[in-house]
Amino acid sequence: MKALITGGAGFIGSHLAERLLKDGEEVVIIDNLSTGQLENLETFRQYATLEFVRGDIRDATLMQMLVSRCDVVFHLAAAVGVQLIADDPVHTIETNIGGTETVLDAANKFGRRTLLASSSEVYGKSESVPFREDDDFMLGGTAFSRWAYACSKAIDEFLGQAYYQQYGLEVIGARFFNTIGPRQTGRYGMVVPRFVQWALANEPIRIYGSGRQSRCFCYVEDLLDGIIALMESAEAAGKVFNVGSVEEISIEDLADKIIAITGSTGGKEHISYEQAYGRPIEDMMRRVPSIERIRETVGWEPRTDLDETLQIIIEHFSETAEKDRA
Ligand code: NAD
Repeated sequence: MKALITGGAGFIGSHLAERLLKDGEEVVIIDNLSTGQLENLETFRQYATLEFVRGDIRDATLMQMLVSRCDVVFHLAAAVGVQLIADDPVHTIETNIGGTETVLDAANKFGRRTLLASSSEVYGKSESVPFREDDDFMLGGTAFSRWAYACSKAIDEFLGQAYYQQYGLEVIGARFFNTIGPRQTGRYGMVVPRFVQWALANEPIRIYGSGRQSRCFCYVEDLLDGIIALMESAEAAGKVFNVGSVEEISIEDLADKIIAITGSTGGKEHISYEQAYGRPIEDMMRRVPSIERIRETVGWEPRTDLDETLQIIIEHFSETAEKDRA
């Protein structure tokens, strides 16, 4: 199998590329290196079966050329991260909607099965626990740019479903919940890498809001098992799946756990969302996926618990910090 991975120099995309290459598959990555980086390919760039193309997914000619040479498409490229979305809403909307249109159009021309990376953000402010795929969305108003990301991912899903219904293109929607692991950067507002880096530097961990909001964090390698199984399942075509962990933790407890594992002397401090982002941000208290559908379809569930995942991430960041010092 030859897989095209859009956004393959990013956090999740680079792990996916590495996994597929190690499994003996061929991989083509397209990435514009906006939030991704070439260093993410360091551990596997020796593979002759890897091709990296620096380019934009909105370039229709390039996308058609690349899609035509591959068997399947994992579409992961997107403008990601609460901070980036707040700072650059135009870029977010244009990349996430325009880019997906170009990818799906090319996939449809050549009849290539496509997995679209969506997000738990589409559930918006809904207070349901857990979130099920067919639940209603409850998105906030257009005054808050955060919802632009959620809407853009929902439009991507609608577009994927439309291609499936109208043209029979095999599209799978995968709603990722918080995913964590080595190589994730804290630069664009991701909570775990930031907390770990602050803790390792013995700086205070900055908790936005009350800290009582909770999340479920899935280890990236577990998520890959799920999305690869979906790509291989005939039954998955035309459907949307939650992919995430069901182990819930409050942000306050997450900070305490990271302090305990790292032995940080920096402590914690609370700051408001407005202080953190320079503008008010609406945040959700809980976000727990129902993983019944993916479990029933491909037998997937996460295997690595949060403690083990945090150990792996902390080790990764300690090694990177050591390398930077050397
Ligand atoms: P990431 O920022 O590390 O990866 C996104 C990649 O897309 C980057 O390498 C970036 O350079 C690339 N990219 C952006 N715009 C592009 C363009 N126009 N053309 C080509 N490449 C472009 O983020 P990630 O966490 O690896 O996210 C991957 C996917 O998973 C995204 O679609 C994201 O919405 C989704 N997702 C991630 C999470 C999570 O917790 N990490 C949660 C929900 C959904």
